[in-house]
Amino acid sequence: MTTPTAQDHDFLTRVLALAQRSRDEGHHPFAAMVVAADGSVIAEAMNASSTDRTAHAEMNALRMASQRHSPAQLAGATLYANAEPCAMCAGGTYWSGVGRVVYAMSEASLLQLTGSDPENPTLSLPCRDVFARGQRPTEVIGPLREDEARAAHAGFWRK
Ligand SMILES: [Zn+2]
Repeated sequence: MTTPTAQDHDFLTRVLALAQRSRDEGHHPFAAMVVAADGSVIAEAMNASSTDRTAHAEMNALRMASQRHSPAQLAGATLYANAEPCAMCAGGTYWSGVGRVVYAMSEASLLQLTGSDPENPTLSLPCRDVFARGQRPTEVIGPLREDEARAAHAGFWRK
């Protein structure tokens, strides 16, 4: 696994805090950011699946980024997420052109937490498997800081 940079850790810290805020505001505890290679924030978003089941935090951030930047412009950007992107969000990453993903909690760990909770019947498909089928590489770093990432989910899911 490629080593995360100090900048990666800074943005992971921000995205973990944003996931807690998502929960505090009554949404599922997920958040995502799209950050350019120079460290400028292109988009940040929380989960909004209570009004749109496809409004995962990553999709919300990727849509914002994609409306303002071409895939070529996003090739050097990184998607930060407090949990590993699901198959839909990995697909969204691919189609937006964002070339790098850094996540905290693995999908396997999230699945252990959510079980079959109808609010979040977690898929069991690593994002690397989705990216491996694409026509260009997407760099993936994670899982990282899983214990920290679990905190925002404590007691949230009804397994
Ligand atoms: Zn997703």
